[in-house]
Amino acid sequence: MKVLVIDDKSNDGSYPRKGLLDVLEQRQQITCDIIEPEPEALKQKLSKIQAGEYDLIIVDYMLERARTIFKTGTALYSLIHAYAHSTPIYLISVKTAPTNQIGDFDLFIKDDAINDHAAFKADIESHRALRSCTSPNAFLTLIQCPETLQDDIVTMIKPILAKPESSTLENENQIPEKEIVDSLNLRLFRWLARSLLRKEGPLVSKAGAAGLLGISLDYFDSISPQFDNALYSGIFSQSFEKRWWGVLLEDKVFEKTDPESYLEKFPFKEAASRLLGATNENDLSKCVVCQGLYPDGLGIVTDQENELLPVHISCSEFNDTLPQEAFFRNPRIIEVE
Ligand SMILES: [Zn+2]
Repeated sequence: MKVLVIDDKSNDGSYPRKGLLDVLEQRQQITCDIIEPEPEALKQKLSKIQAGEYDLIIVDYMLERARTIFKTGTALYSLIHAYAHSTPIYLISVKTAPTNQIGDFDLFIKDDAINDHAAFKADIESHRALRSCTSPNAFLTLIQCPETLQDDIVTMIKPILAKPESSTLENENQIPEKEIVDSLNLRLFRWLARSLLRKEGPLVSKAGAAGLLGISLDYFDSISPQFDNALYSGIFSQSFEKRWWGVLLEDKVFEKTDPESYLEKFPFKEAASRLLGATNENDLSKCVVCQGLYPDGLGIVTDQENELLPVHISCSEFNDTLPQEAFFRNPRIIEVE
C-alpha cells in the first residue's frame, strides 16, 4: 500500500508528520512518498500516479504560495486529478474552516490518529472503496445497510448522487466548495463524516443506543455485546466511535421471549429495559434535568464537552444554531442554572 503526500513542508527535517509516516511503514507496510509541490518533483510522480501506483493521494492545501508555482492547492489538485483515474485524492488543510472538515483529515495530521496504524490502513481501504462507488446499491453495500433501511438511505443520498449543491462564496482560506461538489466520492464522504457517522439518525451513538433501550450508559456497557450484530461495520467504521443501527437494536428486543407481555403492556423503552433485565432504578435511563425515567431525547450542555446526555424534549431547548437535516436529530440544549 502506497500513499503520495504533497506537502510544502516535506523538506523540513524536523517535520513531525515524517516521523509518524516512518512508523506507519514499519508497522503496516504502508509506504509514503512525500514531495514538495515543485514541478520537478511532481513530474517524476505523475507517471506513477497515472499508472495507479498510489492508493491515496493527499494534497496539503494551504501551500505557502511564495514557494510554489501552484498558486493554490486547488490548482495542484486539478493537475493531479487529470492523471489519477481511480485513485482517491484528498485535500487537507490545517486551517479551520467549515469546508476543510471534509475528509476529517485532522485525523491524518494529528499524531493520535496516525498512531493507530491499523485504522489508518483500513481508512485508506475505505477511501479506495468509496472512490469506485457510483450507484446507490454500491453505496448500500459499502455501508452494510440493513435491508429495512435501504429505501430510507437511498432517499437520503439521492440528492448527493444526483446533483452538486449550489456553490457558496469563495474564501481563499477554504477549500472551494466547487472542488468538493465536483467530486462524487468527496460528497459521499462528507455525508458519511458529517451526518451518518456523526449525528443521531439511522445510526445511534452509545448514548443514543442506551436511551433507545431505556437504560443507563453503564448498564448498556455491561450488556452491549449482545447487540454486536447491530454495530455499524461498513466503511470508515474504524475511524469513528462505535455506532449501532437503531432498527437492529429494536429487532433484537422484539426477538426476546416476553412471557409477561411487557411489549404489549408498556411503551417500548420501558418494555426494553425490563426485557434486558434492568431492575435497579440506577440501570434505567434518566433525564439529567428532572430525573424522570425514560426521557425521549438527548442534549448537550453548552460550553461543556459535547457529551450527549439523556433529557426530555420538554426539559431542554431546541438548538437553533445547527442546520436541520431530514432523518437526523440534532442534540437539544440543556440549560444549567
Ligand atoms: Zn426531564
